[in-house]
This record gives sequence, C-alpha cells and structure tokens, in this order.
Amino acid sequence: MARHSDKQVHKILAAVLRRRGGPLKIESLEMEGPRDDEVLVRIVASGICHTDIGFVDGWDDTDGPIVLGHEGAGVVEQVGKEVKSVRRGDHVVLSYQSCGRCRKCRSGHPADCDNFYQANFGFARLDGSNALQRSGVRGHFFGQSSFATHVLATERNIVKVSKKLNLEVLAPLGCGLQTGAGTVINSLAVPKGASIAVFGTGAVGLAAVMAARIVGASPIIGVDIKLKRLKLAVELGATHVIDSRRDKAGSRITDITGSGVDYVVETSGDAKLYRLSTDILNPNGTAAFLTGISGPDYLPEGRRALSIIQGDAVPQHFIPKMIALHQAGQFPFDRLLKFYNFSDINSAIADSRRGGAIKPVLRISEV
Ligand SMILES: [Zn+2]
Ligand SMILES: [Zn+2]
Repeated sequence: MARHSDKQVHKILAAVLRRRGGPLKIESLEMEGPRDDEVLVRIVASGICHTDIGFVDGWDDTDGPIVLGHEGAGVVEQVGKEVKSVRRGDHVVLSYQSCGRCRKCRSGHPADCDNFYQANFGFARLDGSNALQRSGVRGHFFGQSSFATHVLATERNIVKVSKKLNLEVLAPLGCGLQTGAGTVINSLAVPKGASIAVFGTGAVGLAAVMAARIVGASPIIGVDIKLKRLKLAVELGATHVIDSRRDKAGSRITDITGSGVDYVVETSGDAKLYRLSTDILNPNGTAAFLTGISGPDYLPEGRRALSIIQGDAVPQHFIPKMIALHQAGQFPFDRLLKFYNFSDINSAIADSRRGGAIKPVLRISEV
C-alpha cells in the first residue's frame, strides 16, 4: 500500500458542479498529492462524454460539489516514489480506473473490476480519501476528474504516448471511442463478413462503425435520428443507414439483409431500439448494450445479450492500438471532434446535448 504523502498542495483550476443541471463554474481549488503511487498530470485537453452530462443532469446537490471529466490527456508533472512506468515530461492519455487487486484485474480484465463502481464513480480514492478535501470539493472521477488544469491518476489509468502526437486529438480515446471500438473488436470479436447494426451514431456508435469496417463486417447498418450523424456514419464505413424517425428500423434491416443481423451494438438508450436489438438478431447472434442496461435473461436459438463496459479494453494495450489504426487512416476519429476553450465548457455541453457536437474536446492548457 502506498504511504500517504499529502504534504504538497497544488493550486489548480477546475470546473465545479454545485447544482444539478449546471452550469459548471471554473474555480480555483487546492489539490493535495501526489501520493507514492500517483502521477500528477497537467491536463492539455479533455473530451466530454455522455456520462459526464448524465452526472450533470442527475446530480443530487446534497451530495456536495464535484469535479467531472474522464477523457483527459496531458503531461506528467510529478510522479510518486512507487511509480515506474512514466516520468516527468511524458505525455499521457487517461482512461478508466481499476483496483489492480481483484481477480478480474489480475487476470487482465480491469473493465470487469470488482471495485469498478467505487474506483470510477466514488468521487474518492479507493481508500476513501479525497485530494480536493481542503476545498470542500470531491474529485477522482474515473480516477481523474479531467475538467481541471491538473489531476491525480495512477499507473493503472494512464497510457504513455509519443510526444509527436497531438494530445488534443488523443484525449477522447480513453472512454467513448474505446468503448465503441473495443465492443466490436474485443467483446464481440465480430468476424469478417458478419452483419452488424449500430443503434445510435454518436461518438460511441461511430467508433463501433469504424471498427466494424476494420474487421470487415458487412453489411454495416447505422441507425439514428440525426441526418448529419448518419451522413458521417456512411463516410466512416456504414454500408447502409436508417433514419429511425422516418423509417421502421426493423423492416428496413430485414430488407437489407434478407433476415436479421448477426450483431447489434446498442448505444442509443432509446426504448424502441432497445427492444429491436434482440428482436432483430439472427439465431446465435449477439446484442451488446453499452448504456449500462442489460438485455433479457433468456433469448431463443443461441441468441445472446451482453452488457459491456469500456469494450473490455485494457487501456495500455487498446489505446496504442487505436492510435496505430488512426495513423494508418483506418480509424479517422478526429472527424468527430469539435474543440472548445475550457472557459466555454457549458456551451460545449449544450452543443453536445443538441447534437451539434459529436465529441466536444476542451482545450485546457498548451503542451
Ligand atoms: Zn479490480
Ligand atoms: Zn465516458
């Protein structure tokens, strides 16, 4: 266990949520640390994910003020004594946190960590302490709270990247894109030639579409209610798209494939599409639910429903893989990004809610 060394205090700026629905306010806070097993990272950029917005909209004010953000990328400023894999000046992309001690973590499946909820949504370290306690605010969201100029992470949720790469572009790899691409490549292991439908073509869905093209799935059917996103889905690899507001998605899919589909990736959270996810499956087909809900317990003829977290990805393996695919032109996720200044965080969130930005990225500091 790391021993406590909280003597150091850093002045940071962070976007604090004090009231349900926001707005977030950028405040000056005091952060203690890093502890022996922690890394102090100066954040260069952070993506905004739907989970952040879900917390803004659902937060109970009586639980006190918090700092959100979990798609950070930045530069290591300081490392604790026990940290081996990075040093000061290294560039890192941050991802989800895991405990490293449970059986799932030790067998290489940190996305299934027994302490996943506490490590990512507990707004504290796993020992219950909070580096922002001097300011009466809680952080450690996904082991980062990246809507801030500085965060504390651990070796388990940082991924070292080349200094030649643009951290502003890499920031959102740590959650949404990893979830969409990892679901197709890792969790479902979709084989070449299999048919797949992706419900919801936001950042997660579009990452699934790009991954489906990489593995050679066909047809790749994108379903959404926003024309702009469907157009982008076609450019990124969808062979067919369906506007589910205009057309009945189920019968259109049957027209396209002559039957159902082998795989469904459901990212929309829409009740009708949720039902269709399993109704439209071919025998032995699999539906993957990425919105936190699980599918039906029993499905006939070998059909399966899986609830998937973070695409079963080990960030230290999967993030470099996505970067390599991006550099090879096969995973052009930069086309989803829209950049905002940190001070415009509330308009970035508003744009994301309206569908005007598929993946907003905040510029927080210069490299
Ligand atoms: Zn664990
Ligand atoms: Zn996320």
